Amino acid sequence: MIERIIVFDIDATLILSGGAGARALDRAFEEVTGAADAMEGVPFHGMTDCAIISEMAKRKLGARLSETNREEVRRLYAAYLEPELAASPGFEVMAGVPELLDTLAADSRVLLGLATGNFEETAMLKLERGGLAGYFRFGGYGTDSESRPELTRIAVERGRAIAGDGAGVTAPLVYLVGDTVFDIRCGNAAGARTVGVATGITSEAELLAEKPYAVLPDLADKNRFYEILELDGAPPG
Ligand SMILES: [Mg+2]
Repeated sequence: MIERIIVFDIDATLILSGGAGARALDRAFEEVTGAADAMEGVPFHGMTDCAIISEMAKRKLGARLSETNREEVRRLYAAYLEPELAASPGFEVMAGVPELLDTLAADSRVLLGLATGNFEETAMLKLERGGLAGYFRFGGYGTDSESRPELTRIAVERGRAIAGDGAGVTAPLVYLVGDTVFDIRCGNAAGARTVGVATGITSEAELLAEKPYAVLPDLADKNRFYEILELDGAPPG
């Protein structure tokens, strides 16, 4: 029986793309609009991909993109991301993440999912590059909504639908793990127990100010993570 649903953010929580995402998006945006280096100065941390593209257009063109151009940027972004990820010297899987996900995936009480501002197809490219794509059974993506609170709510709803918190069964607790204040705010709003990880640009103190359920320096301590899950018994394996 599933007792815990755990929803993970991707960028700076599970992996760092080493700038591959920004480079691929810049290339895609330039090809469609002619404007170079449009990612420059965009505060992309915690933003959805749709919102990032809107911000690039606003800053560089002073206008909104047509629906056709938006779709073309999205398509080219995905096409350029794979080679950019493959060639990115700064690509990194965060400390302890493969071990933690291995353990959680082997625990039948746990269901793993994603809540990310990435488009679904580019989220998968990033996870595949890190060897992490097989762990997650559902997600809420930037393709579901431009709004992070909304895609987080959708992710939690999908997790609950799979876990089946129906009649006679104790509803599983939902946890959300992320590195920015936006993850914590959206997770709190979606009724999740939020876990901030200070592996991005946000400090433990800044994460704590959003009143998360817990804050960790990183995901390297599997036993500490299990303490926060408050499951009876030790992690498997
Ligand atoms: Mg993140």
